[in-house]
Amino acid sequence: MSEEQAHRALREELGVYALGAGTPEERAAVRAHLDGCAACRAELAELAPVAARLADADPDRLDEDPAPPPGLGDAVLARIAAESGRPQRDRVAHRRRTRLGAGALVLATAAAAFVAGWLVRPVPPPPPLESVAVQVTEPGITATADVVPHTWGVEVKLSGAGFTAGEVYRVAVLEEGGDAAPAGAFLGTGPVELDCNLNSAVLRPDAEGFVVVDAGGEVVVRSVF
Ligand SMILES: [Zn+2]
Repeated sequence: MSEEQAHRALREELGVYALGAGTPEERAAVRAHLDGCAACRAELAELAPVAARLADADPDRLDEDPAPPPGLGDAVLARIAAESGRPQRDRVAHRRRTRLGAGALVLATAAAAFVAGWLVRPVPPPPPLESVAVQVTEPGITATADVVPHTWGVEVKLSGAGFTAGEVYRVAVLEEGGDAAPAGAFLGTGPVELDCNLNSAVLRPDAEGFVVVDAGGEVVVRSVF
């Protein structure tokens, strides 16, 4: 018998050996093979725990049909019910996720529509600027002006330089009939160019011009529309 054949033959004896069975000669043969065969030693090590459990078995009862533990049937039925219920819950959860997904899609669509709407939003045309003539009556001052006919009144856009730095200048819009409606004030900035938006409550059809008055009450800029 070759070593390989001996190995195969002894391997089949390992179960018997692990159970502590077999004749003294057979056990001696297995032990001799185990000394030189690592594979069989490893297999015996795996069999040992099983053999220990088998040793607890009562050979006299091996032919009996084992009775199921009480309550096993109910436990199995309950488990089956639980298992068959799980896919149902999964489907509900899936529907919930789907609804959330749809909600997110609606939100994204709305956001995209908002962005698109923002991009194509009607941009109001810039207010019409009406350039008006300006007379400067104070040396050193330069000034130009435009007016904007708002629905709430006329706006004077005044640009200029040479207004005494730190001095308060008041602006009034002149109405038909000679009344002067206050349109705000600004501080002079000396040689630095200034741009002021001065608002009045006079509607453009009623406005005939404006004046810029210095701190001493002198008109330094006058405009007649
Ligand atoms: Zn072996």
